[in-house]
Amino acid sequence: MVVPYKHEPFTDFLVDENKRAFEDGLKIVQSYLNQDYSLIIGRNRVATKDKIISINPANKEEVIGTVSKATKAHAEEAMQIADKTFKSWRKSKPEMRADILFRAAAIVRRRKHEFSALLVKEAGKPWNEADADTAEAIDFMEYYGRQMLKLKDGIPVESRQIEYNRFHYIPLGVGIVISPWNFAFAIMAGMTSAAFVAGNTVLLKPASTTPVIAAKFIEVLEEAGLPAGVVNYLPGSGSEVGDYLVDHPRTRFISFTGSRDVGVRIYERAAKVHDGQIWLKRVIAEMGGKDTIVVDSSADLDLAAKSIVASAFGFSGQKCSACSRAVVLEDVYGEVLDKVVELTKGLTVGDPKNRSNFMGPVIDQAAYEKIVSYIEIGKEEGNLVAGGKADNSKGFFIEPTIFSDVDEHARIMKEEIFGPVVAFCKARDFDHAIEIANNTEYGLTGAVLTNNRDHIEKAREDFHVGNLYFNRGCTGAIVGYQPFGGFNMSGTDSKAGGPDYLILHMQAKTTSEML
Ligand code: GLU
Repeated sequence: MVVPYKHEPFTDFLVDENKRAFEDGLKIVQSYLNQDYSLIIGRNRVATKDKIISINPANKEEVIGTVSKATKAHAEEAMQIADKTFKSWRKSKPEMRADILFRAAAIVRRRKHEFSALLVKEAGKPWNEADADTAEAIDFMEYYGRQMLKLKDGIPVESRQIEYNRFHYIPLGVGIVISPWNFAFAIMAGMTSAAFVAGNTVLLKPASTTPVIAAKFIEVLEEAGLPAGVVNYLPGSGSEVGDYLVDHPRTRFISFTGSRDVGVRIYERAAKVHDGQIWLKRVIAEMGGKDTIVVDSSADLDLAAKSIVASAFGFSGQKCSACSRAVVLEDVYGEVLDKVVELTKGLTVGDPKNRSNFMGPVIDQAAYEKIVSYIEIGKEEGNLVAGGKADNSKGFFIEPTIFSDVDEHARIMKEEIFGPVVAFCKARDFDHAIEIANNTEYGLTGAVLTNNRDHIEKAREDFHVGNLYFNRGCTGAIVGYQPFGGFNMSGTDSKAGGPDYLILHMQAKTTSEML
């Protein structure tokens, strides 16, 4: 019997021993910086001349690693191998596939702080955020392994006396996994694990800003016994390798997490049936968010302020779940704003290798420029009451920034910024607050701080988001506890870490035998 699933606990860095263990992790990572990583296609390690250079966003001079960059020819070769490997992998025992995930989770758990330290360096994550990312990667492997064991015998259906009917799930085929940089370990490992434990083979194209953590994950899978060709590692550009694979007639499904624009592009391209293609491709997409915390008059205002700060500025707001809009009832608006501004002014920004820094950098120059441009827009649309400054001389640092008195229809109330910027907007009453919360094209997360039971029920019915939280922040969903994914332009409402996620990577087959 497999022990029941429980999520991986977070590390308490106030305990000296844990702090030292994390520092040791940072030293291990330091010792392997600047190595070269090859593509992995089947059994072959393929080094290319053209490279992706992964840098530390807190210190642009520091190279985390150089990574080979796949071309269309590599993508084609990898597709052929994945397609061929599928023929045997689809018949492998689900128990064996789950065991590989359990072993991989154990390997990561043993080297937990090393992986988190790599996230500090490659993704600019503060210690606690990196620790949560690694814990979530472990959770995805443990959870999806168990889900596969639950699904392997299918779901009972009725049979008459003269027949024996069965209903079970079989894999789809070759999946393209296009993973994001913001949960560079957790989401990348989760999407990949779900795809292969369900019996599919995978072409993994990790985000170009965080390819090294993905290479390390493949090493773990190999150590755990994953056969060659099941997961192929193909870093490369979206417009070359990404499009080529999305369009490929042998691609059976695409699992994508990233921006709305790229998600829509993939969805549109995947809809086109190409020569030789004998199926309709499936797209599993998790895209952006414009997430709101609503503060009701009856709320605990200190809890509200803490929840807004943690959800808006944790990992510099670079989560699709991040709070970028605080909608506050007018009678408590001033008090909540003051509390949030005060807490925000106490936050430290700097190199995340130092545990004392609450916030590190944003991921790269393009993100930096985009966020800075939204701060300029915010200055036109509201009052700058905290932060607003940015400095990219050494790394991509931006202060936690708050705009007050923003109109509900302003751009910074509608468009995803993906940085440490939050807009405050006043609501006349609770109905108005929910109306504002729903006025975007997204529908990912939201939170309501209230002590009014009727308002909880109203929000449960009318606040249209995939993940709605009460009396807490709107980030930090836990695998198996709060399945994660959103409505509308936030994606296909595929719930990562939920009981129906693996089924999205499979198709149901009915067999009926006459007796
Ligand atoms: N699952 C994460 C959370 O609940 C967010 C994932 C994302 O940003 O893509 O905060």
